Amino acid sequence: NNGDARAARIPRYVRVNTCLWTTEEAIRHYQEKGFKLADPFSSDKAFAQDEHIPDLLVFHPQRQFHDDVCYTTGKVILQDKASCFPATVLAPPARDDSVVIDATAAPGNKTSHMSALMANMGKLYAFERDQKRYRTLKAMLNKAGCKNAEAINADFLTVDPSDPKYGRVTHILLDPSCSGSGIVNRLDHSLEAEDDNAEGLENRLNKLAGFQLMMIKHAMKFPAVQKIAYSTCSIYAVENEQVVKQALNSKEATHSGFKLVPRAQALPTWHRRGGEEDMACKDHAESLIRCSPGEDATNGFFVACFVKTQVTHGIEK
Ligand code: SAM
Repeated sequence: NNGDARAARIPRYVRVNTCLWTTEEAIRHYQEKGFKLADPFSSDKAFAQDEHIPDLLVFHPQRQFHDDVCYTTGKVILQDKASCFPATVLAPPARDDSVVIDATAAPGNKTSHMSALMANMGKLYAFERDQKRYRTLKAMLNKAGCKNAEAINADFLTVDPSDPKYGRVTHILLDPSCSGSGIVNRLDHSLEAEDDNAEGLENRLNKLAGFQLMMIKHAMKFPAVQKIAYSTCSIYAVENEQVVKQALNSKEATHSGFKLVPRAQALPTWHRRGGEEDMACKDHAESLIRCSPGEDATNGFFVACFVKTQVTHGIEK
């Protein structure tokens, strides 16, 4: 732990992995272990159900789960609340014919969340470029019983959108490498941020933003894609609102009529929305979700969800 006072105000979030059991069963289990449904800050034996994410349980910040058998067997996943937003907003369908991509998947928290939302049905391709992290991803998906997920050790940018294998992909989750500047509680994010280097911050952010934009534009080229959720654990507009603005203005977006999903479909009851100064209009900013480190009892986070509004019959070259 980095000792940041803000980290102490973040509860311990535990996502129930509904690939393996139900939230009702999990609540009963913890009650039988002596926990009581009450304000999680009131005692280290209190816990609650989260108000925005139905399968998320909230415990006291000091509560440790690394020795909990439910954690070691994959029945619960230690995942910050904000990091549960992208899969929730993307809402991949639970159907036998669903085809979904997680473009940047390791260590696999959001992949396993999508697998659970899909009720372990259909097909979920999970790409990871780094070989070591790919192995972590594979182990995590196996432990979590995500039978509909297939981990693939490949760079998403080299995946051909016209490959018939991906011709029916309708939903893509894109949580690419970012500055990690929103992370104040490293316990469940030890692999998220990339190493710091000697470059100036501005230089580094611009490079990251260029890469993030390229990833969104690539995702938009998949012929059947309807929805793309883009997220970062960065606090900087350069990686968030500004990337989204450029993505909306790109030829890939205009060709397929990609827009932002309205606030009504993007966690409408979540209070903190995107920064207006970097967006074309107030409606765009309202569509975006932000989490402020410390202030929102989560790490710093950003989510945008693009939706296709036109039917296309091919890929623009
Ligand atoms: N979504 C993950 C989770 O919730 O557990 C965290 C993803 S982390 C922020 C970004 C990951 O994307 C890293 O593991 C990184 O190695 C991988 N990555 C970066 N560029 C990639 C690319 N072009 N194709 C596939 N994976 C990539």
